[in-house]
Amino acid sequence: LPAPALEALQPADVAALLPRPASQAHKYTRGVVGIRTGSTTYPGAAMLSVAGADCGLAGMVRFVGDAAVLDRIRTVRPEIVGDGRVQAWVVGSGSHQTAEGQLSATLDDGVPIVVDADALEFADMVAGRRAVLTPHAGELAGMLGADRHEIEARPLHFVRRAAEAYRTTVLLKGRHTLIAHPGRPVRVTTTGTPWLATAGAGDVLGGLIGALLAGGLTPYDAASVGSWLHGAAATYASQGGPIVAGDVARALPAVVASLPA
Ligand code: AMP
Ligand code: MG
Repeated sequence: LPAPALEALQPADVAALLPRPASQAHKYTRGVVGIRTGSTTYPGAAMLSVAGADCGLAGMVRFVGDAAVLDRIRTVRPEIVGDGRVQAWVVGSGSHQTAEGQLSATLDDGVPIVVDADALEFADMVAGRRAVLTPHAGELAGMLGADRHEIEARPLHFVRRAAEAYRTTVLLKGRHTLIAHPGRPVRVTTTGTPWLATAGAGDVLGGLIGALLAGGLTPYDAASVGSWLHGAAATYASQGGPIVAGDVARALPAVVASLPA
């Protein structure tokens, strides 16, 4: 039988893929995720990507950026540490004029990278590497030189085309989030709520995918498991009512705990 063109992860699939600590685990074996997002202009983007990463699925979260922003993050998250070795990077959201520099600074390590927002303009730099590109339709339009409305009308076509063009994992955000990787079925995220259409929700998603990459998942699995958990956390936090991005991050541990063993 030919492989299916589309698939949707079920709770048992997410539970099976999730990185869990072995009995002899220590923080470094669980993985360290490095966050290079935000700026003095947009410190909130840094705080929200750190919040998404700091859900307990990685062993440690580092923030590499402005010292004043790190101080601010630590007032609410004392467990966040500074510069050092990492197993995955998250780059782009709220990075303002520093996106290109932040992205090139992550390339030397050869570790997988989540590329979002302002850094997507420079996504050519990660073509063929272990990476997750996380555009919404407008950002993908800029990357492919296509029209935003065309992408919204044919998201499956364009997410596949982007994965082929960049030879890596592409997660197209929106009403139906789609995850494409060359040679693999496109995964559609079945969790989530329109209440997720709120500022900073994408920053939380980027941090979460980074934590899963640091935990050892492939870019394709980290993107699809991260998107599933993000949508489930939004639904859990929302209970049918409004939410803000921080609520999604706070609900992540409860959603992980509720997965089948
Ligand atoms: P961003 O565009 O970076 O702010 O990210 C927005 C997040 O909210 C992504 O995870 C989207 O998939 C999600 N989202 C946005 N609009 C909707 C919607 N109408 N229904 C469900 N999820 C949405
Ligand atoms: Mg965004």
